[in-house]
Amino acid sequence: MATKSKKKLSAKKKSAPAKSNAPKAARSAKAANPAHAAGTDPKRVAAILAKLDEAYLDATCELKHENAFQLLISTILSAQCTDVRVNQVTATLFKKYPTPEAFAHANPSELEQDIRPTGFFRNKTKSVIGASKAVIERFGGSVPRTMEEMLTIPGAARKTSNVVLGTAYGIASGVVVDTHVQRLSNRLDLTRNEDAKKIEQDLMKILPQDRWISFSHQLIWHGRRVCRARSPKCIACNLESLCEAKDKTI
Ligand code: SF4
Repeated sequence: MATKSKKKLSAKKKSAPAKSNAPKAARSAKAANPAHAAGTDPKRVAAILAKLDEAYLDATCELKHENAFQLLISTILSAQCTDVRVNQVTATLFKKYPTPEAFAHANPSELEQDIRPTGFFRNKTKSVIGASKAVIERFGGSVPRTMEEMLTIPGAARKTSNVVLGTAYGIASGVVVDTHVQRLSNRLDLTRNEDAKKIEQDLMKILPQDRWISFSHQLIWHGRRVCRARSPKCIACNLESLCEAKDKTI
C-alpha cells in the first residue's frame, strides 16, 4: 500500500506543473486581451446571434407599457424585482397616475404603499417622483431621446436609459446589461468582466450596433427560460455547441 501511495504521489508531483500552468497561462492571456479571446471571434459571435434569432426572433421587453414614460417608470420599479411583479403593480398604478404630472404631484407616502410590492419602495418613490418632475420641468413632458439627457433623470442609470431608448424609441444607445445579460455573456465567453459597465463596453465592441437592442432582449429571454442562474437547462439549449461554460449541466 505504502509503495502504491508513493508511486501515485510521485506521479502527481511530476504531472502537476503541466496541468496547473497551462490553464493559468491561458486565463492570463485572455484577461490581458479580452477583445481577442477565442469567445469573441467574429464568426463565433455571428453564430451565437444566428442561434438567438432562431430561438427568440420576437423577443422584446416584458415590462408592459403604453409609452416611453410608462416604460421609464416600470424600469425604475424593476430594480431587484421581477417583470411579472412590476406588471402586476403597474396594471393599477398607471390608472391611478396616468401622466407624468400625476406622478410628480403624488403623495410620497401613498405612492410608497402603491409600489411597495416591488421592494425598495422608499428609494423607488423618490426616483419615480424625481424622474417625473425632471421629465416635466426639463424635457417638456416627454422622455428625452439621448443617453446624455437620460442620465440626468433621477433613477435612470445606463441600464434604465438603454431599456427606454432601445425599446420605446428604437435607439441603439448601448447594450442593456441586467443580471441575465451579465451571466450569459460570461457563460458564452463574450466577456471576461463582471462589472456591468465593462461588460457593456465589451459587448458594444463585438456586436453590430443594429443588434444591440435585440441581443439584450434575446439574452434576457434565454436567461429566464433556459440558461437560468442555477441549473441551466443545457440539454434544451440551442447554443450548447457554442458554449463552454464551466457550469454547463451536460
Ligand atoms: S449550454 Fe447551458 S450554460 Fe451554455 S448557454 Fe446553454 S443553457 Fe447556458
